[in-house]
Amino acid sequence: MELYEYTASALSDLLQTGECSSVEVLESVWDRITRTEGKIKAYLTLTKKEAFHQAEEIDRRRAYGESLPPLAGIPIAVKDNICTKGVKTTCASRMLQDFVSPYDAAVIERCKESGMVLLGKTNLDEFGMGSSCEHSHFQITSNPWDTGRVPGGSSGGSAAALAAGEAVLALGSDTGGSVRLPASYCGLVGLKPTYGTVSRYGLVAFASSLEQIGPMGRSVEDVRLLYSLLCGKDPKDATTLEHPSFDGKQRLFPSVKGKRIGIPKEYYSSQIAKPVKENLRAALTLLEREGAVLQEISLPGTQGALAAYYLISSAEASSNLARYDGVKYGYRAKSFASLEELYQNSRSEGFGKEVKRRILLGGFVLSAGYQEKYYKRAKELQRQIIGEYQRAFETCDLLITPTAPDTAFPIGEKQSAAQMYLSDICTVPANIAGLPALSLPCGYDKNGLPVGMQLIGPKFSEERLFEAALYYEQAAGGFPMPDRMRPFERKGGEKL
Ligand code: GLN
Repeated sequence: MELYEYTASALSDLLQTGECSSVEVLESVWDRITRTEGKIKAYLTLTKKEAFHQAEEIDRRRAYGESLPPLAGIPIAVKDNICTKGVKTTCASRMLQDFVSPYDAAVIERCKESGMVLLGKTNLDEFGMGSSCEHSHFQITSNPWDTGRVPGGSSGGSAAALAAGEAVLALGSDTGGSVRLPASYCGLVGLKPTYGTVSRYGLVAFASSLEQIGPMGRSVEDVRLLYSLLCGKDPKDATTLEHPSFDGKQRLFPSVKGKRIGIPKEYYSSQIAKPVKENLRAALTLLEREGAVLQEISLPGTQGALAAYYLISSAEASSNLARYDGVKYGYRAKSFASLEELYQNSRSEGFGKEVKRRILLGGFVLSAGYQEKYYKRAKELQRQIIGEYQRAFETCDLLITPTAPDTAFPIGEKQSAAQMYLSDICTVPANIAGLPALSLPCGYDKNGLPVGMQLIGPKFSEERLFEAALYYEQAAGGFPMPDRMRPFERKGGEKL
């Protein structure tokens, strides 16, 4: 086994006992990047020089006997909508193609303080708007399980980098599922934390009331380790608070015995593909055998969640993206005859099609005359959904649902916006209700593509989700990387 294949927690042990150095880990990951990145295209920017510099520094400090945090020396990939000082942050948009942030996002500061090694910035759907990574201005990222398929979005670059062994940990952002969907499509673990537990300072805003930065990894423990570093109050983001019940240092006792697991029937509708349902059923049977108590519940508001999500998120996006006017920063059109035309041309040329669609939709639902009919109704539905989840958690400890209605689809398959939006039906409710939700692999379809299972809990129940996920992971014998799977036919793509 090569170093790039190890999980972060395994590497952390090896680093602490001196069995390998940070530079050796980085060399292994870099070698992998060199071999596979041409096919995967996960990164928009690679920061090789800085990465080796950071790794050497960590090795030096360790050699001096300094006691370092557990993730010191572990390489991490960062979604390109999270600001990194001195390194481009493009949001995969022409609008920000040359933007170099003068400061680090709060999460980046935390990663750096704990000695993590930044590998580079990963591809995404422009400004996080999409579910496949196909809406990037720069490139289309491939799924390492089958390079003819999408890795999911919008944090597809981070997911693909992890699944291909081009990173050990990664950061994504999740406004409506962008951490969980790619985790599901790429056979990974991804967490959308409770709203307010991770600082959004330095995350380029899409829909501020819904989004959180989330950790992604190849094991439950890795995601937990990274989350323990990210969560907590940040004076620079007034929406953050101290997590009242998370202590990443405590040992976890994986178990589901006696846990009351709610199965919301609306999440198992005819829109969910058969292999997804079958794998979920098998996973639930396994948990039941271990002593979990399953109960079917109903969350009727879920059916309107997708519509509410697209209205609320687009409304917020239209306001958040108003700052890109070609004057202050970002892309500026070459030709214009007036100030009005400068705005118009810069925004028309700088934004891609999907982003424009959201801005138009958002402007429309907020406009006088239509606000009551659309935006206000969406906010009412949001209140209803929040109430339904609160009631569900009076009788359930957690809920289990599919993460996505299907497995990774072929590049170019979903042509209409409506088709693409349907990929998010299982993930958006947790954003609307501000709840923590974790996706983990729970099997494969007949093409050998990973299926994702989603655990949703009440606010601040991250530890409970990790406990259950860890139990499942151990029962499943861990989550393999694509090229360690037994060989199988891949239609449309090729094996790495
Ligand atoms: N796919 C959803 C959208 O396009 C979610 C995106 C996200 O979570 N950033 O809005």
